[in-house]
Amino acid sequence: MSTVTIEFMMQNGGFRLNVGDQLYGDLVRCLHNNRSLEPWTTVTQEIKLGIAELVANYGKQMPHLHKLNKKIQAMQIGEKFLVAEGMPEDTSERSELEALVEVLNTYDISQVGAEWARRTAEMKSFMGKLLQNYNVFTPRLDVRITLGHAKKDERACRFCGGTLASGSSFTKVAHAVPEALGNKTLILGDECDICNKYFGDNIEPHLIGSFDIYRAFLGVRGKNGLPHLKYPCAEITHRDGIPVVIAQKIEFTDTSIFVELGESRKLTPAKLYRALCKITLSVLNEQELSGLEDTVAWVRNDQPSVVLPKVATNVLPGSSDGSELSVTVFTRKNDDHNLPHVVTEFRFGCVIYVYILPFSRLDKQSFIIDEEYEKFWSCFPMYCQTKNWKFEDFHCTTELTINDSIRVEHSGQTKI
Ligand SMILES: [Zn+2]
Repeated sequence: MSTVTIEFMMQNGGFRLNVGDQLYGDLVRCLHNNRSLEPWTTVTQEIKLGIAELVANYGKQMPHLHKLNKKIQAMQIGEKFLVAEGMPEDTSERSELEALVEVLNTYDISQVGAEWARRTAEMKSFMGKLLQNYNVFTPRLDVRITLGHAKKDERACRFCGGTLASGSSFTKVAHAVPEALGNKTLILGDECDICNKYFGDNIEPHLIGSFDIYRAFLGVRGKNGLPHLKYPCAEITHRDGIPVVIAQKIEFTDTSIFVELGESRKLTPAKLYRALCKITLSVLNEQELSGLEDTVAWVRNDQPSVVLPKVATNVLPGSSDGSELSVTVFTRKNDDHNLPHVVTEFRFGCVIYVYILPFSRLDKQSFIIDEEYEKFWSCFPMYCQTKNWKFEDFHCTTELTINDSIRVEHSGQTKI
């Protein structure tokens, strides 16, 4: 029996299903029962009933069908989606199809062609060369997804290679992005308990700590609920869901309020960089880890200080709705060695980090010297057209003590 991969592209996300011959035939008949010649499928009551029937017939052998059924039943009658045997892997082609699904469900059918053409032209002009060079992947953080292998006996830890057979255990839920930053749903299957503990004890606190005040003000719930932060001269807590600052001394001027929190937070810059790269290594596909063996070793083991590419950081005031957490991974799809193999944008609230994954064997440059870095930066139009980036050196392996403070100005902006 041969297996065919069928991919669905819907407004509420995508879905892939591997089906055998018989189910394939039944699925095609079910989805085309509206006898439409259009290249997209429209949800009808008939399709909803047909998929429910397929679940009754095949659900036991094919548990994935339940997921498809759930998605189809949640869709509105008349909603349009794409279904095909294998959608393009290329990001620019996929983005065009995603735009088509959105346009199909937003515009009158007579306007679809023109609006789709307008959007694809706009995407090409903005992202232009970037999408010729990179595939872009943004994992969803609003639905539960297990990256890597879901079944424990198939897992191999991507950081140490351990398997159940070699004595590793996978009893803890490993979050691809730290849970303290609000990620409850993006899980990495292929991370053993020992590596999970190492990351949680050694490197992730340096990333999470750098967001402490944001987490408190945004009310991001971690494992232990809302953050309660204690400083030498102050504390930040919550009362009735509202963040409250209790301080020994608050300075008022005509235009601002200033609170000195005191020296308390420990930060090792290289560990923060490694924690960021650990997120990228968690969300990449298993096949994409090839060439990143040295990066994995650097993230997983304490190392002496090495020079690293700069990390670009920015704060975009007003862009935070309190819930924004996103990871976008750019993976180079050609041999243009002026560009890094893997680049990631990590966003939490209004803070953005853009960083290169160092030590890729597919890179011929290290992007440490300014000229190499500037060439790379100029190929990312959405970043180089934004002002106020700071390019920070995170290679230091010494623990620093950070003196945090809060300043509230009359304009309503909070500067940390
Ligand atoms: Zn491991």
